[in-house]
Amino acid sequence: MPAVSLTLFTSDRFADHLTPPGHPERVARHQVMQVVASEFRDRGGRVVEPRTATEGELARIHERVYVASLRDTAGRAVALDPDTFTSPQTYDVACLAAGAAVSAVDHVLDQGSGTRAMALVRPPGHHAERNRAMGFCLFNNIAVAAAHARARGLSRVAIVDYDVHHGNGTQSSFYSDPSVLFISSHQFPYYPGTGAADEIGTGAGEGFTVNLPLAAGATDADYERVYDTIAGPILRHYGPELILVSAGFDAYKDDPLAGMRVEAECFGRLTAAIAAIADDCCEGRVVAITEGGYDLKGLADSLRATVRALEGEKSAAASPSAAAAARAAATIQAVTPHLAKYWPGIIEV
Ligand SMILES: [Zn+2]
Repeated sequence: MPAVSLTLFTSDRFADHLTPPGHPERVARHQVMQVVASEFRDRGGRVVEPRTATEGELARIHERVYVASLRDTAGRAVALDPDTFTSPQTYDVACLAAGAAVSAVDHVLDQGSGTRAMALVRPPGHHAERNRAMGFCLFNNIAVAAAHARARGLSRVAIVDYDVHHGNGTQSSFYSDPSVLFISSHQFPYYPGTGAADEIGTGAGEGFTVNLPLAAGATDADYERVYDTIAGPILRHYGPELILVSAGFDAYKDDPLAGMRVEAECFGRLTAAIAAIADDCCEGRVVAITEGGYDLKGLADSLRATVRALEGEKSAAASPSAAAAARAAATIQAVTPHLAKYWPGIIEV
């Protein structure tokens, strides 16, 4: 493996987005992120304060009238949907979260090969639609990052989303766009309802949306099987110039919001596999951006495993007891007929 260098982008200001008591997307998540960032700093890692996203950067993904409507919530606590709330500083914090994703992209594009970055942010972003906040998300941080990379001249950007929920907002941002490959694994059927095997993109974007719906109860073995069999080969064949990762950790076994059985170390292995493809395809250019993850111990351990993987540390091998992957087999059987014609020789019926 070539030499790699990881930089983290985060800010204490991510504590300033407040949610109602009992809400799972809470300030304590930020405190966990800061612990992992300070551990990284203590072993010599570089942690950088991001800049905020400009309105022009947000408007590549979101309608300007929507951006203005969120700006109007500044100074107030507003319910945007049944799950998504603002507090007086939320607009500024959400702009900073999107800006951290943009800062991380700029960093890997401006530095030499082997440069990796991760943005530790809240609120998360992948449910946010062009004109609508939903599912704790206000601006779609990773979609804004992908659009920024395209605006900087890249012609093929890949997004891999292993958050347990389907990244509906990211999918719809690029559904007809072959220049952004979107691959999502998620619990299905489940919130937000999208992400079925036959959602593959439209028009010129047909085949460039890859959904990997997994039944509740999926394990490390299921995740590793679908990534080895479908996600990895498609990602490699696409030949991205940059890989972005929606790093949500709510597939963790004890997460209160979902029903998967993934161990923290598995997120490290998935991230390492994605980063290895970046090493082969695009001089190691990979940017991970946090999404969900609501069990605090699970968030801490999974984030730690992910940061370690991006630092280039070799992860522990999968547990030999994690043999059966029946849910993965069902997923592969469901998606193959829809994808085979777009990825001949890569995905076989
Ligand atoms: Zn999630």
